[in-house]
Amino acid sequence: MKISAKTKICLIIGDPVSHSLSPAMHNAGFEALGIDNQFVFLGARVKIKDVEMVIQAMKKMGIHGLTCTIPHKIEVMKHLDRIDKTAKKIGAVNTVINQNGRLIGFNTDWLGVITPLEKITFLKGKKVAVLGAGGAARAAVYGLLRRRAKVKIFNRTINKAKQLAKEFGCQGGSLNNSNEIKNSDIIINTTSVGMKPLDNELPIPIDYITSKQIVFDIVYVPFETKLLIEAKKRGATIIHGVEMLLHQGTAQFEIYTSRKAPEEIMRKVLVHP
Ligand code: NAP
Repeated sequence: MKISAKTKICLIIGDPVSHSLSPAMHNAGFEALGIDNQFVFLGARVKIKDVEMVIQAMKKMGIHGLTCTIPHKIEVMKHLDRIDKTAKKIGAVNTVINQNGRLIGFNTDWLGVITPLEKITFLKGKKVAVLGAGGAARAAVYGLLRRRAKVKIFNRTINKAKQLAKEFGCQGGSLNNSNEIKNSDIIINTTSVGMKPLDNELPIPIDYITSKQIVFDIVYVPFETKLLIEAKKRGATIIHGVEMLLHQGTAQFEIYTSRKAPEEIMRKVLVHP
């Protein structure tokens, strides 16, 4: 055990939190780089009413990094000294760093969406159908527009799709819009369809998917969702939800350590937890 009184603490807070793979992923990264004497990553279940207290404790105790997951990504914003402009635009913070007692908030979720796509395609000018209009969709839409993709948002509640589209300056509509979705180059599912208890459902009819498309499902439990299984059968290129988890995590690792994240080591933790 290399931990000492000098080791910097990073913490994930959520409610619940025990399912989180972030501690294992980051600690594996620290160990691989031989910096597990400098950093340790832990988890704490925190009620939303106690987030402010955690932020005060972070300052008083010199906690180095704070990862926020559901339901704290918006609440935490009220209590920080500064929020970078990307996180402000997305409207959520998933990463907080303590810089000499000043707490700065970032959002790396958008990189979780963009990086896996950019490993296999060039996003500028690509037609992208984003399914869903919740918190994860906001990060996806922000990132895609930043890379100058042509984004359309489709959601069960059409008004929410239209509202989000208006805010980001793109178009929104219904999940039944077969032509628009069929004609897109990339489909990204950001709805919770595919995750238990909706693991036997599809967010769109399967005949909207063609062999030319990339289908990215950000749901990561189960590892391969029904949407990805069906898309693969139709010859589409698929991206698993753990890739988002990994790449929001590697970006966060780099904020916490100022070191390049060991991606393959961190991926192994997520794929074979
Ligand atoms: P959220 O803000 O609650 O949004 C949920 C979205 O799913 C809404 O657009 C909602 O549509 C839609 N939806 C829910 N049930 C539906 C149904 N039966 N049919 C059609 N649409 C339905 O949640 P979120 O934070 O964006 O998260 C969404 C999913 O992404 C979750 O499964 C989460 O685990 C996953 N996620 C993964 C990662 C990762 O790292 N891979 C990161 C963040 C989130 P309405 O507006 O009509 O309700």
